[in-house]
Amino acid sequence: MTDALYLHDAYARTFDATVIAVGPEGLRLDRTLFYPTGGGQPDDRGVLHTAAGTCLDVTSVAKVEGEIVHRVAPGATLPAVGDRVRGELDWARRFWHMRGHTAVHILSGAVYHDLHAGITGGQIGEGSARMDFAMAEFSRPLAEQLVARVAEVVAQDLPVEVRFVPRAQVGQDPGLVRVASELLPDVDPVRLVDIRGFDVQADGGTHVRSTGEVGSVTLDRLENKGAKNKRLYLRIGEAPSSPGPSG
Ligand SMILES: [Zn+2]
Repeated sequence: MTDALYLHDAYARTFDATVIAVGPEGLRLDRTLFYPTGGGQPDDRGVLHTAAGTCLDVTSVAKVEGEIVHRVAPGATLPAVGDRVRGELDWARRFWHMRGHTAVHILSGAVYHDLHAGITGGQIGEGSARMDFAMAEFSRPLAEQLVARVAEVVAQDLPVEVRFVPRAQVGQDPGLVRVASELLPDVDPVRLVDIRGFDVQADGGTHVRSTGEVGSVTLDRLENKGAKNKRLYLRIGEAPSSPGPSG
């Protein structure tokens, strides 16, 4: 089992690890900062430096039967089980995803608290994010209003905190588990992402440390995906300032 370091520290960019498995699917490490595709957040990219001096390009990261697998570009000499590696994230890509993920949570908080509508899915990209919610009627003015609410929460620069609580506690509060696809089954404790004073959700993604780091969020477009499913696309601007590494 890999220690998923990104769950505890979203700002760390480099790490040292030991190879615990090498297979046709890729490498498994005893610990990693590489986020695997899931919960609407794309996987991390970057490199693994081996002790032998090889630099392996990480081309995708996925959870395969519950295990985090790092796929690397073909042709390279792979390390052996027990070898040490140093991982380094493509930070620009990851930081886009952190900002987008927090933007989506602010939006979902606004939809949930202000409109009392359910969220059915979401997807984060670089410079964009979309969210689907279960609403029969939706309009451009309503979307503008939601996005203005998101911008307001960004301007408030609220702290975003991660904490772990026993699963039994979450089971009693359906408001915490809003997007079913984001909650990994059978996890205990459950990880909560708390936008202080605004919204709390069960979530396994990586987030910025305060809403101000999300920066500019604007409405891109709306799509009608059916009688009870509406899709909203956000545009995320360039980072307002370059983030410091975690201390
Ligand atoms: Zn999330």
